[in-house]
Parts: sequence; C-alpha cells; structure tokens
Amino acid sequence: MRRVEDLRRILSVIDGRGYKAYKGIQGSYEFPAFTLYVDHVQGDPFASPSKVRVRVSQVVAGLPDSLFHDPVRCLALEDFLARKVHATIRRLVRDRRGTGKSGLIAIDAGGQEVLERTAVVVTPQWVEMRLSVGFPAAGRRVLGDQAEKMLCHELPQIVDSSVVWENQPQQEGEGFVACVENQEHIRRQLDALGLIAFVADGSILPRESGASDCPLPPDRAIPFRAPDALRITMELANSIPGASGPVNFLSGMGIPQGVTLIVGGGYHGKSTLLRALERGVYPHISGDGREYVVTCPDAVKIRAEDGRRVEQVDISPFIDELPYGRPTSAFCSDDASGSTSQAANIIEAIEVGARVLLLDEDTSATNFMVRDARMQALVRKEHEPITPFLDRVREFYGQLGISTVLVMGGCGDYFDVADTVIMMRDYLPYEVTTKAKAVAQSYPTKRRAEAASPIAQITARVPLQESFDPSRGRRAVKINAKSKDLILFGREPIALNFVEQLVDLSQTRAIGYAIHLAAKRFMDGHLTLHEVLVALEQFLNCHGLDTLDPFHSDERHPGALARPRRYEIAAAINRLRTLRMRQRKSLK
Ligand code: ADP
Ligand code: MG
Repeated sequence: MRRVEDLRRILSVIDGRGYKAYKGIQGSYEFPAFTLYVDHVQGDPFASPSKVRVRVSQVVAGLPDSLFHDPVRCLALEDFLARKVHATIRRLVRDRRGTGKSGLIAIDAGGQEVLERTAVVVTPQWVEMRLSVGFPAAGRRVLGDQAEKMLCHELPQIVDSSVVWENQPQQEGEGFVACVENQEHIRRQLDALGLIAFVADGSILPRESGASDCPLPPDRAIPFRAPDALRITMELANSIPGASGPVNFLSGMGIPQGVTLIVGGGYHGKSTLLRALERGVYPHISGDGREYVVTCPDAVKIRAEDGRRVEQVDISPFIDELPYGRPTSAFCSDDASGSTSQAANIIEAIEVGARVLLLDEDTSATNFMVRDARMQALVRKEHEPITPFLDRVREFYGQLGISTVLVMGGCGDYFDVADTVIMMRDYLPYEVTTKAKAVAQSYPTKRRAEAASPIAQITARVPLQESFDPSRGRRAVKINAKSKDLILFGREPIALNFVEQLVDLSQTRAIGYAIHLAAKRFMDGHLTLHEVLVALEQFLNCHGLDTLDPFHSDERHPGALARPRRYEIAAAINRLRTLRMRQRKSLK
C-alpha cells in the first residue's frame, strides 16, 4: 500500500496542473495512525465534494468495548463520534483554501435526533469516519501544498482529538450513550405497561422557534409536569445524575393505549405536546429537552394533504359513494381532497403496521373529523360520502388494536369516544376524563353514529416493480435528495413536505435508495408493500445501511445516509406519481 510520503510526492507533482490531475490520488494510503481511502475525486472545484474515508485501528482509537458491544450502544457511540468530529472540524479546519469547495472537510453529523447513520462506523477492530472533502484549487488549478495541509496535517489532528478515546471528554461520551440506551429501554417497556408514550417530568417540549429544533431557553419554557392520575415511574437502564445523587428511575406521564384526546384553549400547548410525541419515535440527544419523551416506534402522524396522489387505496371505511358512483374501495386520484387524502394517509399507515395514529385538528380536514347533529339534519347521510373519524376511532382500537392521540380543542363530540382526556392549561397537562364524560352526559350531542358497517379489514396492496424507474439521462440509476422534503427518483420528483416525522436530509437520501433497493430485490408482483418493507428492514438489519448505496462495495464511501422508518419509506412510495399497485384481496 502507498504511504503518506507517496501522497505528498503525488501532490507536489500535480501542483499547478488542471483539476482533473487530482484523480491521481484516488486509492489508499497508510498513515502512522490510520489508513486514508480516497474513494472518489470530484471533477472540478465546484462539483459535489470528494469522498474520503479514514480508518483508525482500535489499537490507536482505544474505544471501550462497553460502549459498542450492543447495537443500541454502538449506534449511540457512532452518533456521538460523528458529532465530535463535526465539532473538531469547525474548530480546526481552515476552509476557503481556494475556489469553489476548496478546503472543505465535512461529516454528516446529526441534529437533535440520534439516528443510525453511515457517517461513522465502529467495529471491534477499527473506527471509520466517512468524510466529504473539497480538494483545493486556484481557479481550476490544483493547489498541491494546500491539499497536503488538509490531508497530512488537518486529518491527523481530527483523528487525534475526536476519535482517539484517550483525548475525548469520556464522561460526556458515556453519558450520551447511557441516555440513548435509557430511551430505548423505556421504549421497550411501553407495551407491557399498556402505554403508547411516556413524557418525563421536567421535559422541555417547546422549540426555540418555528425554524429551530433547539429547545426554548429555560427562562421562557414551562417544564413538563405529569398530572397525578397519569403519573408513573419508569425504570432506567443506567442511572442519571439527580438532585440528591444518581437516580435509576424517572417519573412522568404515561399515555395509555386507546383513544386519547388532548383538549384545552388555543395557545395552551396542545400541538407542542403532540409534536414532541411525533418526534418521540426517535431518541434525542441529552439537553434537547425531549430526551425522555418516548413514543411507540410505530406511531404515525396523520394529516390532510390535498393535492397528493393516491393509488388503489381502499378508503371505503371513511369515504363511500362519491358523486356519480365513483368507487372508493380502490381509490385513485392525482389530486386528492383534504378528506380523501387524510383517509388515504390513515389506511396507508395501518397497511404497513402503524399502531398509533397522531392527529392534530390544526392539520386535519374538518369534514373528515366530525359531522355534528345539525349538519346531519341538513345534509342527509345518503348525500354525504364521509364517515367521520369520530365514528371509526373506537373501532380502530377495539377491532384493530390501533390507538389514537388527537389534539381537539374545537369539538366536544369526541368526549363520547375517548378513553383518556388530557387538558392543557398554561402549558401544563391535567387529567379531565371523568369531567369530560360528565359533560358528555349532561350535554348529549344528539348526533347519530354514521358507520354503515364495521371495518372488515385493511386491504393490502402489491407494488408493481415497473413503477420504479431510477434512470435519468445516460445514467441507469440517478436518485438524489434535493432537500429533506424532495427526492428526485430518476426523473420523478417525490414531494415529502407533509411527511412530518421525516427529520433529516440523510434519511431522505436513504429513502430514495431504499425504494430502489426494495423494488429491485423484493417487489416480485406478489409481496405486499408491508411484506416488501419488512423484508427490506431485515436486509438492512443484516447487512447495514451502507448497502443502500446502489453501487455498494466494501471499499466505497456510502455517502451520507441515516436510517428512515418503514412509515416514511412507505409514505415516499405512496407519493410517487408513477406508482402502480394491485390490491391483494384476502383469500375467501
Ligand atoms: P395550541 O396547539 O394549544 O394552540 P401550541 O402548542 O401551538 O398551542 O403552543 C402555543 C405557543 O406556546 C407556541 O409558541 C409554543 O412554543 C409555546 N409553548 C408551548 N408549550 C410551552 C411551554 N411548556 N413553555 C413555554 N411555551 C410553550
Ligand atoms: Mg394547535
């Protein structure tokens, strides 16, 4: 293998030449403390940066085995290291060493959520960082000495201060890993306790602003405090520092399975609580304020989304007999309405395994949520295709075991169907179930239940492989994420603006590739969407996220990817405008 001296020599030879000469450094180099792999060299200084991996032996890194011996701990440690590398780069690296991306060194570290990502990989033998590097240029000429400074001075410094364990803030690292493990430990207990979520006392739910995911500063935020009737104590995997010594349990609010309403006056914190529950499907970094808000991993946010495409979804539990006899048991639309899109969003989520639905009146279609007695009197049921959610929500729980958490400040008709009612007042929750039931008794709604027949089943669909064409121009596979909310799959855009539990651009990138992998490998014209996505999950569990890269090999930078949930992959597939599905009826 070539050595640092060889790299130095090549860089001095190509100094001043055209940018393409950088291609000459592709390959691997043995440094004293690590191996450098230059996997891909950008075509010019303005193109996407080059892809570089740095592999450090555990003999040098010395990461303690206890921090990566199980999958949750390993994921947390990798995430922690990516953040440390990111911080070190910001501290040490002088970018703008020339034109375009000259001088850039970047790693794909996470935001407030802790996700499985490809940025750092820890194994018992080595640690690998996956970096983007902008090789420096003056105009379009190679700046060899600047490249030498980046690769031969800055990189070793980064390794030294953010990978070598000896030089790390070890307590912080251990605390980070322990906190993530605690969250996953709580998540695993939810089912047995009959809960769909836990919100710890002291949590900070509100965010700094609509544009920031950081917590509202302590002087402006009211910390969460559980109502006594819903307070439970949750056991932790690792103790955390408390006021009087370390504690190994946390108290907070348990939200029971069933139908839960969040009521309260406008601006009293209802949506903020629901948003924290939406994000609670992912672990959070310590200090986020929501690190001990833990939700069932199969909770899916549901909203109205008019304009989206819908393909062969059986929305008949909610919508039947559209004008002019348009069928809804295999509903298709290139431009769904508020109510039909919301119905499709629910059915599609359940189709792939959702166990909790999260809804907010702010983003729901009113006519989908409720039809009150007066409207029933004016518009007869024969002329109203919609069976409102109100008349199905109990059945979802009773028949299908699917819980709902619903923010509803505007309509008391839901008191009749709720198991638990939480009222937000001045940003604090109160348990008011008995009160709400008494109100429901004293003020009957006089409305008639409208569900014509019980929900028989959710009709499964089989995705057809020919729907997925990843080619663009001369490239057989060209898939990229233009932003967190937009995938370009071949020539087809997939808009994800209303898929609210997608949190990271790297998840979006991964979804684009995941669709391609799933289509190629698992869509055989027989497997249902649910079966395809479960197979994909098992494949990724077995072979790792790196394999999402369509050109995957063991010696190739897999790019910046983070693991998406099954629900967000399904959401992207369902929004692809070229999607074709066939329904699979159950065998009679
Ligand atoms: P609602 O849905 O009840 O109308 P929101 O949840 O949208 O209310 O909250 C209204 C405002 O109050 C938001 O700006 C939010 O950031 C802020 N807020 C919510 N919870 C808290 C809290 N615990 N402490 C301080 N401010 C909060
Ligand atoms: Mg609201």
